[in-house]
Amino acid sequence: MGKIELEDFFNFDSKEPINRLAYTEEDMKYKVKIIEKMQELGMKISVDKIGNICGTISFGNNPKKVLAIGSHTDSVYNGGQYDGPVGVITGLKTVEALLNSKSKVNGIVKVVIYACEESSRFGNACIGSKYLSGNIKEDDYHNIVDKKEEKQGNRITLEEAIKFATTYLKSNIHDIEFVDKIFDTVDYSLESHIEQYDILQENYMKNKQDVIGIVNTIGSAVRIKYDVLGKSGHTGSTPMKERQNAVDATALIGKKIRKLGKKYEEVMLGRASQVEINTIGHNGSFNQIPNHAEGLIDFRLLLQNTPENVLAAFEEIIKKVSKKTKTNITTTVISKGSPVNTSAMLNEKIAEICEKDKINFMKMPSWAGQDTGYIPAKEKTMIFIPSEGGSHNPDETTKKEFIEVASSIFTDLSKDLLLEKFRDSQVVKVSPSISMLDYGTASTNKEIEK
Ligand SMILES: [Zn+2]
Repeated sequence: MGKIELEDFFNFDSKEPINRLAYTEEDMKYKVKIIEKMQELGMKISVDKIGNICGTISFGNNPKKVLAIGSHTDSVYNGGQYDGPVGVITGLKTVEALLNSKSKVNGIVKVVIYACEESSRFGNACIGSKYLSGNIKEDDYHNIVDKKEEKQGNRITLEEAIKFATTYLKSNIHDIEFVDKIFDTVDYSLESHIEQYDILQENYMKNKQDVIGIVNTIGSAVRIKYDVLGKSGHTGSTPMKERQNAVDATALIGKKIRKLGKKYEEVMLGRASQVEINTIGHNGSFNQIPNHAEGLIDFRLLLQNTPENVLAAFEEIIKKVSKKTKTNITTTVISKGSPVNTSAMLNEKIAEICEKDKINFMKMPSWAGQDTGYIPAKEKTMIFIPSEGGSHNPDETTKKEFIEVASSIFTDLSKDLLLEKFRDSQVVKVSPSISMLDYGTASTNKEIEK
């Protein structure tokens, strides 16, 4: 069995930009390297219709519980090395550690590479995990196209990209099973990821102490497009109170959105609002009142907030601005997702492991959306490891030891969740003469444990 060396997957000394766009040759090359390691570990490989890749290994007799560990390998344009792959390699390291461990575990472990997590190529994020949760159907495949290619007049659909990826795998890897879905549901889903802002790094600067993050909630986005219609006119002759200035309206919306975001920041309502001012009819001249403006608002929600709260607050703003600027404003909701809270049970267990192993931790949200938000699992969670330089750029940097720490936490957690109960010394002590196979069900085990 080949050892999993982090250097095989990361060049810790390099800050070369990564362009591993989803389903491209670059992405598939990296995936093949991971699949080869999965096979060396004795894992069976399956690939589904969206291109999710899954390595499966069973531990113990008649295993029932299924645990998935994974993340993505695709990057943004000119991204960094760690956003995504850290979570997949943590999965490999965990399986390696479980294989080398003396603890008896009983369960099925899957290491997953979720397809196309970044929205860079197709304008749609978490495509692989959304497919697993039923948020993307095969019918959508020809309507989703490569954004950059589209601008250059070429049309590459998601369907074609998946076909390329699948063909690449077929010609580079033996023994792949092609399935509809790599799984319908799992009992537990774990993901590790570099942090995408600088909360952990800032903590280090302040306290000179490394800390990992236990993600208790995963943010969602509510995206709204608005369109302002005013009236063009001569800036020299139209009285101020008669003007119907579309850019005025946009500026006012921007101001009010920021105020709203600030007001609710403690209760985690809004962040990042993006306003694009586009003035048709303005022609860049001083003397024309702009009659048209468009804007995009990107709200980020956490915890108990619902898209409905945000949309109601936004409509209120639009009404006021429209009245004040005498413009006609229409809005379109582009997407609205609800935030996802992770498993309190798993988070508690991770906290206990950290305490036992003297690893500093803090509970924190993920503002950005993550595969974990969509993966159909009974219990799911994720951890963040520190990253210098944030993410989505070549400067993102994490340390080897943080990836090791994430792997050791997931190893301990997997052992805990997949503990082979009927081989507990306790059980043997109670009734040493009874065959172990008699304790096949979880409910029996519980009774014996009492
Ligand atoms: Zn990522």
